[in-house]
Amino acid sequence: MWPPSLIEPVFRPPSEASSLILQLTLGCSWNRCTYCAMYRSKDFGIRPVKEVIEEVRSAAGVPGIRRVFLADGDALAAPFEVLAEVLAEIKERLPEVQRVGIYGDSRSILKLGTERLSRLKDLGLGIIYFGPETGDEATLKAVIKGATVERQLEAARVVREAEIKLSMMALLGLAGVEGSERHARATGRFIAAAQPTYAAALTVTLVPGTEMHDVWESGAFQLPDRWGMLQELQWMLEEMEDYRGPFHANHASNYLPLKLRLPRDRESAIALIREVLESRDEGRLRPEWSRGL
Ligand code: SF4
Repeated sequence: MWPPSLIEPVFRPPSEASSLILQLTLGCSWNRCTYCAMYRSKDFGIRPVKEVIEEVRSAAGVPGIRRVFLADGDALAAPFEVLAEVLAEIKERLPEVQRVGIYGDSRSILKLGTERLSRLKDLGLGIIYFGPETGDEATLKAVIKGATVERQLEAARVVREAEIKLSMMALLGLAGVEGSERHARATGRFIAAAQPTYAAALTVTLVPGTEMHDVWESGAFQLPDRWGMLQELQWMLEEMEDYRGPFHANHASNYLPLKLRLPRDRESAIALIREVLESRDEGRLRPEWSRGL
Protein backbone atom coordinates (compact mmCIF):
# COMPACT_ATOMS: atom_id res chain seq x y z
CA MET A 1 0.00 0.00 0.00
CA TRP A 2 1.43 3.34 -1.06
CA PRO A 3 1.48 5.86 0.48
CA PRO A 4 0.99 4.39 3.95
CA SER A 5 -2.32 5.49 5.45
CA LEU A 6 -1.91 7.46 8.66
CA ILE A 7 -4.16 7.39 11.68
CA GLU A 8 -4.85 11.02 12.55
CA PRO A 9 -3.94 13.16 14.31
CA VAL A 10 -0.30 12.96 13.27
CA PHE A 11 2.40 15.36 14.43
CA ARG A 12 5.96 15.74 13.26
CA PRO A 13 8.70 18.32 13.84
CA PRO A 14 8.87 21.09 11.20
CA SER A 15 12.26 19.77 10.04
CA GLU A 16 10.59 16.47 9.06
CA ALA A 17 8.16 18.16 6.65
CA SER A 18 9.40 16.22 3.64
CA SER A 19 10.02 12.92 5.44
CA LEU A 20 8.17 9.69 4.89
CA ILE A 21 6.11 9.26 8.05
CA LEU A 22 5.67 5.76 9.40
CA GLN A 23 3.53 5.22 12.47
CA LEU A 24 5.29 2.79 14.72
CA THR A 25 3.14 3.69 17.69
CA LEU A 26 -0.20 5.41 18.09
CA GLY A 27 -0.59 8.24 20.58
CA CYS A 28 1.72 9.11 23.44
CA SER A 29 2.97 6.64 26.02
CA TRP A 30 2.54 9.27 28.76
CA ASN A 31 -0.36 11.45 27.58
CA ARG A 32 -0.67 13.28 30.90
CA CYS A 33 1.11 16.64 30.49
CA THR A 34 -1.35 19.32 31.57
CA TYR A 35 -0.71 21.60 28.58
CA CYS A 36 -0.81 19.02 25.80
CA ALA A 37 -3.82 17.81 23.87
CA MET A 38 -1.92 16.32 20.95
CA TYR A 39 -2.83 12.70 21.47
CA ARG A 40 -5.76 12.89 23.90
CA SER A 41 -8.00 11.27 21.30
CA LYS A 42 -5.77 8.22 20.99
CA ASP A 43 -4.98 5.38 23.35
CA PHE A 44 -1.29 4.55 23.27
CA GLY A 45 -0.40 1.40 21.41
CA ILE A 46 2.36 -0.18 19.37
CA ARG A 47 1.29 -1.05 15.85
CA PRO A 48 1.82 -4.60 14.66
CA VAL A 49 5.39 -4.65 13.40
CA LYS A 50 4.34 -6.61 10.30
CA GLU A 51 2.15 -3.71 9.18
CA VAL A 52 5.00 -1.23 9.54
CA ILE A 53 7.39 -3.54 7.71
CA GLU A 54 4.84 -3.81 4.89
CA GLU A 55 4.73 -0.02 4.68
CA VAL A 56 8.52 0.14 4.45
CA ARG A 57 8.46 -2.44 1.67
CA SER A 58 5.78 -0.49 -0.19
CA ALA A 59 8.07 2.54 -0.19
CA ALA A 60 10.95 0.66 -1.83
CA GLY A 61 11.61 2.14 -5.25
CA VAL A 62 9.63 5.33 -4.57
CA PRO A 63 11.99 8.14 -5.63
CA GLY A 64 12.97 11.01 -3.36
CA ILE A 65 12.69 9.43 0.09
CA ARG A 66 15.74 10.72 1.93
CA ARG A 67 14.34 10.91 5.43
CA VAL A 68 11.94 8.85 7.50
CA PHE A 69 10.16 9.98 10.64
CA LEU A 70 8.83 7.37 13.04
CA ALA A 71 5.62 8.61 14.68
CA ASP A 72 3.66 9.02 16.98
CA GLY A 73 4.93 10.55 20.22
CA ASP A 74 6.91 8.87 21.53
CA ALA A 75 7.68 6.05 19.15
CA LEU A 76 10.91 5.44 21.03
CA ALA A 77 8.73 3.78 23.69
CA ALA A 78 8.36 0.76 21.37
CA PRO A 79 10.39 -2.30 22.43
CA PHE A 80 14.02 -2.33 21.33
CA GLU A 81 13.44 -5.39 19.11
CA VAL A 82 10.61 -3.62 17.24
CA LEU A 83 12.68 -0.48 16.73
CA ALA A 84 15.66 -2.52 15.55
CA GLU A 85 13.56 -4.60 13.13
CA VAL A 86 11.93 -1.56 11.53
CA LEU A 87 15.21 0.36 11.27
CA ALA A 88 16.94 -2.67 9.73
CA GLU A 89 14.14 -2.96 7.16
CA ILE A 90 14.44 0.74 6.29
CA LYS A 91 18.19 0.35 5.90
CA GLU A 92 17.81 -2.61 3.59
CA ARG A 93 14.80 -1.55 1.50
CA LEU A 94 15.34 2.22 1.38
CA PRO A 95 19.10 2.59 0.95
CA GLU A 96 18.78 6.24 -0.09
CA VAL A 97 17.42 7.23 3.32
CA GLN A 98 20.02 9.38 5.03
CA ARG A 99 18.35 9.86 8.39
CA VAL A 100 15.59 8.38 10.51
CA GLY A 101 14.08 10.63 13.19
CA ILE A 102 11.84 9.89 16.15
CA TYR A 103 10.20 11.57 19.15
CA GLY A 104 11.48 10.26 22.47
CA ASP A 105 10.89 11.24 26.08
CA SER A 106 13.22 10.74 29.02
CA ARG A 107 11.51 7.50 30.07
CA SER A 108 12.01 5.77 26.74
CA ILE A 109 15.54 7.12 26.28
CA LEU A 110 16.62 5.91 29.72
CA LYS A 111 14.84 2.58 29.32
CA LEU A 112 16.88 1.91 26.19
CA GLY A 113 20.19 3.21 27.56
CA THR A 114 23.39 4.08 25.74
CA GLU A 115 24.29 0.65 24.43
CA ARG A 116 20.98 -0.15 22.78
CA LEU A 117 20.65 3.38 21.44
CA SER A 118 24.11 2.99 19.89
CA ARG A 119 22.88 -0.16 18.16
CA LEU A 120 19.83 1.74 16.88
CA LYS A 121 22.17 4.45 15.65
CA ASP A 122 24.12 1.84 13.68
CA LEU A 123 20.81 0.78 12.13
CA GLY A 124 20.14 4.34 10.98
CA LEU A 125 18.49 6.21 13.86
CA GLY A 126 19.90 9.69 13.29
CA ILE A 127 17.99 12.11 15.46
CA ILE A 128 15.82 12.09 18.59
CA TYR A 129 13.41 14.97 19.20
CA PHE A 130 13.10 15.39 22.94
CA GLY A 131 10.92 17.96 24.73
CA PRO A 132 12.01 18.42 28.36
CA GLU A 133 10.15 21.77 28.10
CA THR A 134 11.69 23.20 31.27
CA GLY A 135 14.74 22.86 33.48
CA ASP A 136 12.75 23.87 36.55
CA GLU A 137 11.81 21.10 38.97
CA ALA A 138 8.67 22.79 40.30
CA THR A 139 7.35 23.42 36.79
CA LEU A 140 8.01 19.83 35.72
CA LYS A 141 5.94 18.71 38.68
CA ALA A 142 3.17 21.24 38.11
CA VAL A 143 2.68 20.23 34.47
CA ILE A 144 2.89 16.50 35.31
CA LYS A 145 5.78 15.84 32.98
CA GLY A 146 6.55 12.65 34.88
CA ALA A 147 10.27 13.36 35.02
CA THR A 148 12.80 15.17 37.14
CA VAL A 149 15.46 17.60 35.97
CA GLU A 150 18.11 15.04 36.82
CA ARG A 151 16.42 12.29 34.78
CA GLN A 152 15.98 14.59 31.79
CA LEU A 153 19.61 15.65 31.98
CA GLU A 154 20.63 12.01 32.19
CA ALA A 155 18.48 11.25 29.12
CA ALA A 156 20.29 13.98 27.18
CA ARG A 157 23.65 12.54 28.23
CA VAL A 158 22.64 9.04 27.12
CA VAL A 159 21.64 10.28 23.64
CA ARG A 160 24.89 12.21 23.30
CA GLU A 161 26.90 9.16 24.37
CA ALA A 162 25.12 7.08 21.73
CA GLU A 163 26.22 9.76 19.23
CA ILE A 164 22.67 10.34 18.02
CA LYS A 165 21.69 13.92 17.21
CA LEU A 166 19.53 15.44 19.92
CA SER A 167 16.96 18.12 19.15
CA MET A 168 15.62 19.66 22.34
CA MET A 169 12.49 21.77 22.82
CA ALA A 170 11.64 24.17 25.65
CA LEU A 171 8.34 25.96 26.20
CA LEU A 172 8.14 29.66 27.01
CA GLY A 173 5.34 30.51 29.43
CA LEU A 174 5.03 27.04 30.92
CA ALA A 175 5.28 28.23 34.55
CA GLY A 176 2.83 31.09 34.05
CA VAL A 177 3.47 34.62 35.26
CA GLU A 178 4.25 33.46 38.76
CA GLY A 179 7.11 31.11 37.89
CA SER A 180 8.19 32.95 34.76
CA GLU A 181 11.74 34.01 35.62
CA ARG A 182 12.53 30.88 37.61
CA HIS A 183 11.43 28.63 34.72
CA ALA A 184 13.19 30.67 32.03
CA ARG A 185 16.53 30.88 33.81
CA ALA A 186 16.47 27.23 34.91
CA THR A 187 15.66 26.18 31.36
CA GLY A 188 18.54 28.21 29.94
CA ARG A 189 20.90 26.55 32.42
CA PHE A 190 19.40 23.15 31.59
CA ILE A 191 20.05 23.56 27.87
CA ALA A 192 23.60 24.69 28.55
CA ALA A 193 24.19 21.64 30.73
CA ALA A 194 22.49 19.21 28.33
CA GLN A 195 24.36 20.48 25.23
CA PRO A 196 21.86 19.17 22.64
CA THR A 197 22.79 19.25 18.96
CA TYR A 198 19.91 21.67 18.36
CA ALA A 199 17.84 23.64 20.85
CA ALA A 200 14.55 25.42 20.31
CA ALA A 201 12.14 27.52 22.32
CA LEU A 202 8.45 27.39 21.44
CA THR A 203 5.66 29.32 23.13
CA VAL A 204 3.04 27.53 25.18
CA THR A 205 -0.48 27.72 23.82
CA LEU A 206 -3.57 27.17 25.95
CA VAL A 207 -5.58 24.37 24.38
CA PRO A 208 -9.22 23.90 25.41
CA GLY A 209 -9.73 20.54 27.05
CA THR A 210 -6.37 20.53 28.81
CA GLU A 211 -5.91 20.92 32.56
CA MET A 212 -3.78 24.01 32.02
CA HIS A 213 -6.61 25.64 30.09
CA ASP A 214 -9.07 24.78 32.89
CA VAL A 215 -6.84 26.32 35.55
CA TRP A 216 -6.35 29.40 33.38
CA GLU A 217 -10.12 29.73 32.98
CA SER A 218 -10.55 29.50 36.74
CA GLY A 219 -8.14 32.42 37.12
CA ALA A 220 -5.60 30.41 39.15
CA PHE A 221 -3.03 30.42 36.31
CA GLN A 222 -1.96 33.41 34.26
CA LEU A 223 -0.04 33.11 31.05
CA PRO A 224 2.63 35.76 30.40
CA ASP A 225 1.57 38.15 27.64
CA ARG A 226 3.66 38.58 24.48
CA TRP A 227 6.11 40.88 26.27
CA GLY A 228 6.37 38.42 29.13
CA MET A 229 7.18 35.62 26.68
CA LEU A 230 9.88 37.75 25.13
CA GLN A 231 11.29 38.56 28.56
CA GLU A 232 11.51 34.80 29.22
CA LEU A 233 13.50 34.36 26.04
CA GLN A 234 15.94 37.01 27.24
CA TRP A 235 16.34 35.36 30.65
CA MET A 236 16.82 32.00 28.98
CA LEU A 237 19.54 33.32 26.69
CA GLU A 238 21.27 35.06 29.60
CA GLU A 239 21.78 31.62 31.18
CA MET A 240 22.96 29.93 28.00
CA GLU A 241 26.48 31.31 27.92
CA ASP A 242 27.98 27.82 27.73
CA TYR A 243 25.65 26.36 25.09
CA ARG A 244 27.25 25.77 21.72
CA GLY A 245 24.96 25.12 18.79
CA PRO A 246 21.92 26.35 16.92
CA PHE A 247 19.13 27.87 18.98
CA HIS A 248 15.85 28.51 17.20
CA ALA A 249 12.98 30.54 18.57
CA ASN A 250 11.36 30.94 15.19
CA HIS A 251 8.48 28.50 15.55
CA ALA A 252 5.10 29.80 14.38
CA SER A 253 4.05 30.12 18.04
CA ASN A 254 6.83 32.61 18.84
CA TYR A 255 6.27 36.36 18.88
CA LEU A 256 9.77 37.43 17.82
CA PRO A 257 11.23 34.87 15.42
CA LEU A 258 14.94 34.30 16.09
CA LYS A 259 17.30 31.84 14.46
CA LEU A 260 20.60 31.93 16.29
CA ARG A 261 23.93 30.18 16.46
CA LEU A 262 25.30 30.28 19.96
CA PRO A 263 27.46 31.54 21.48
CA ARG A 264 28.13 33.78 18.45
CA ASP A 265 24.70 35.47 18.36
CA ARG A 266 23.86 35.45 22.05
CA GLU A 267 24.84 38.99 23.00
CA SER A 268 23.26 40.57 19.93
CA ALA A 269 20.02 38.60 20.43
CA ILE A 270 19.80 39.69 24.07
CA ALA A 271 20.38 43.30 22.99
CA LEU A 272 17.69 43.02 20.32
CA ILE A 273 15.15 41.57 22.76
CA ARG A 274 15.94 44.33 25.28
CA GLU A 275 15.41 46.94 22.60
CA VAL A 276 12.08 45.45 21.50
CA LEU A 277 10.94 45.14 25.11
CA GLU A 278 11.80 48.77 25.79
CA SER A 279 10.11 49.97 22.60
CA ARG A 280 6.88 48.05 23.27
CA ASP A 281 6.44 48.34 19.50
CA GLU A 282 3.77 45.79 18.54
CA GLY A 283 4.81 46.15 14.91
CA ARG A 284 8.04 44.31 15.67
CA LEU A 285 6.21 41.22 16.89
CA ARG A 286 4.52 38.53 14.89
CA PRO A 287 0.82 39.46 14.86
CA GLU A 288 -1.46 37.15 16.84
CA TRP A 289 -3.42 36.14 13.72
CA SER A 290 -0.31 34.89 11.94
CA ARG A 291 0.91 32.68 14.75
CA GLY A 292 0.39 29.22 13.33
CA LEU A 293 -0.88 27.41 16.38
S1 SF4 B 1 3.87 16.82 25.79
FE1 SF4 B 1 4.76 14.99 24.88
S2 SF4 B 1 4.97 13.55 26.60
FE2 SF4 B 1 3.51 15.13 27.26
S3 SF4 B 1 1.50 14.31 26.75
FE3 SF4 B 1 2.14 15.58 25.01
S4 SF4 B 1 3.12 14.18 23.57
FE4 SF4 B 1 2.98 13.14 25.56
